[in-house]
Amino acid sequence: MVVALDGPAGAGKSSVARRVAEQAGFAWLNSGSFYRAVTWAVLSKGRNPADREAVVLTARAVRLSLDGGGGVAVDGQPVEHLLRSDAIDEWVARHSAIGEVRSAVNRRLRDIAAARDVVVDGRDIATVVFPDADVKVYLDADVATRARRRHAQGTSRMSLEEIERSIVERDRFDRLKAEAPLAVAPGALILDTSHLTIEEVCDRVLDAIHVKKLTLGDKRQV
Ligand code: C5P
Repeated sequence: MVVALDGPAGAGKSSVARRVAEQAGFAWLNSGSFYRAVTWAVLSKGRNPADREAVVLTARAVRLSLDGGGGVAVDGQPVEHLLRSDAIDEWVARHSAIGEVRSAVNRRLRDIAAARDVVVDGRDIATVVFPDADVKVYLDADVATRARRRHAQGTSRMSLEEIERSIVERDRFDRLKAEAPLAVAPGALILDTSHLTIEEVCDRVLDAIHVKKLTLGDKRQV
């Protein structure tokens, strides 16, 4: 079974995806980590991150897999803890905008999902990567809430107002970009998480999985 979770920055996708995967006994695929892993490979191999060809060759050559602990491995090396550096933040959006990089990542996501039940989170999961996903959820929240959540994480040096402005900018870029723009997939359950706790959001996604399992004739409890 494939559970696809899409939505803008700060809507709570990763926290929800991790918990739902744990509670449902599914593997969690954070597609953002796969893009970050490609950028990590480019930088750690000493390739020029501005060289499109080098980035595409690297994306095609590396083997991306799950490390067994909820993270991503590159050629068998667990790298999840290395993926949120300033250097990767600086390059990953440009690398993930390259069509060939997206194809390479999407191929890996589909290969992994073919062998097990997965919760996949990202921005184009139900629209492009898994248009036939069994459960499609679009998580949203108002800009002020998303900015407050990012601010509370304490990982940014920006003020609340600056974070809010950067989220508005990122939303615009994500919705207008030519390759796989952020959009609600047909048939997706839209959840506005502004006034919901993470437990309430997870319960709704788990309910949707449960209903889907029943309609598929699989009576296992989630
Ligand atoms: O979610 P996260 O910030 O870790 O994603 C890293 C980068 O990968 C972002 O720049 C985001 O735009 C890109 N991305 C993407 N498609 C996805 C997931 C992430 O383009 N499905």
